[in-house]
Amino acid sequence: MGDIYDKCPACGETYNPEPGFYFGALYVSYALGCAFLITILVALKILDVEVSLLQKCIGISIPWLLLTPKMHALSKIIWANFFMKYKKTDRSNDIK
Ligand SMILES: [Zn+2]
Repeated sequence: MGDIYDKCPACGETYNPEPGFYFGALYVSYALGCAFLITILVALKILDVEVSLLQKCIGISIPWLLLTPKMHALSKIIWANFFMKYKKTDRSNDIK
C-alpha cells in the first residue's frame, strides 16, 4: 500500500525526485486527519447528537484506522501533485 511507480508511464517523469520526497506527505496526512476530525465533530454538533468523550474518541479513531491505508496513498498523491505537473507528450496518446 502506498507503493508508486518509479516513472510516469505517459511522460517518463520520475515519481521519486529525491530521497525522502514523500516525507512531506506527512503534513498532508495530518491535514486530512484534522479535516476528518473536524468534519465529524461539526456533524455531531449540527445533528445535535449527544455522545460522551469516549464515544467520540472511539467513533473517530476506528474509522480513521480503517481509512489509514487509503489516506496514506491519498496524502502521497496530493503531495506529489503540489510539485509535479502533467506534461503532455507524444507517448500520452499511447496510454488509452
Ligand atoms: Zn506523466
